[in-house]
Amino acid sequence: MYEDTISNRTGSRSQTCEWRTNKAAEPSSRARSPWLQSNQRGISNAQAAPAAVSAQDNWADTCNVCSRHCRLAEGAAGLCQARKNISGTITPINYGIVSSLALDPIEKKPLRDFFPGSRILSVGSFGCNLLCPFCQNHDISRVIVNPAQGAASGALPFLMEASGEPAGTEYIPPEVLCQTALGLIRRGNIGVAFTYNEPLVGYEYVRDTAKLCREKGLKTVLVTNGSATDAVLDEILPWIDAMNIDLKGFTFEAYNAVQGDLEQTMHFITRAVSACHVELTSLIVPGINDSVPEMEREAMWIASLSPDIPLHITRFFPKYKLTDLEPTDISLLYLLKETAERYLSRVYLGNV
Ligand code: SF4
Repeated sequence: MYEDTISNRTGSRSQTCEWRTNKAAEPSSRARSPWLQSNQRGISNAQAAPAAVSAQDNWADTCNVCSRHCRLAEGAAGLCQARKNISGTITPINYGIVSSLALDPIEKKPLRDFFPGSRILSVGSFGCNLLCPFCQNHDISRVIVNPAQGAASGALPFLMEASGEPAGTEYIPPEVLCQTALGLIRRGNIGVAFTYNEPLVGYEYVRDTAKLCREKGLKTVLVTNGSATDAVLDEILPWIDAMNIDLKGFTFEAYNAVQGDLEQTMHFITRAVSACHVELTSLIVPGINDSVPEMEREAMWIASLSPDIPLHITRFFPKYKLTDLEPTDISLLYLLKETAERYLSRVYLGNV
């Protein structure tokens, strides 16, 4: 019944829809991206300051899933567009709403040292809590729920991409996804991977599905930007077998560009490493996070957790709001790999 690409939306889906940062901004003569000079470039008002976080007097609740802590008035959605204040409760309106479904090689997550050669049923929804200008999956990460239609009423959210194009979805409850994964074991499937958009803006679906998978002996994988609070980690860590976590650079400057939180991401990684198999991915974007000293600091920090944590260094291609940049120079990628290998035993290049 199912083909390798189960949803027609998944054929070219990237596993990395963001990137990361670090603290002390490194002095460098390297040309900096215009994005770092103005993090407003190319981001619409709807994305940079959604109605969800507009100043209103009747704040009902605060979402504590990520460091943004969106204060949401009744009926308002968070910056991620995946959580909404419905009758005083912060509700994950993307629960079970599937935009992408595919039986992928585990190496595509990317995970190189977790059941190599296997495949995994990969599921994505919509929404993200970062604003990466180079997002490879912006068609599902930056969608807007049509306010005229009703997640609040229980109907499937009708999603619009930033371009105004409709984005297709279907509702797949945890039980059905788990059964689907079981049915694919004969085709090499080992479990379920939550990926494509940022899964943790709807962590409840991850938790509920992963619990069922664990009961059935399936493996669970999370591909995340690591921008979630301890409370979310407490909910999902017991049920996740492996993670690939984005580390979008190692300067605060870089994380500011995506409106992320480097310290929270480092804390997230530290906790995850103590609980499950973890691999990290750094997408190298020219002029943003491509310096050798930055990679050296990043690798040193990772090694302080464990020198055996796999690091994927991946090549950037022009995308979304950064179509004016060149792809990452391949010789630079090899240089960064050599740098990281001075501290880490497992460094892999991706997209080369
Ligand atoms: S998960 Fe979404 S609604 Fe909650 S704080 Fe983060 S961006 Fe805001």
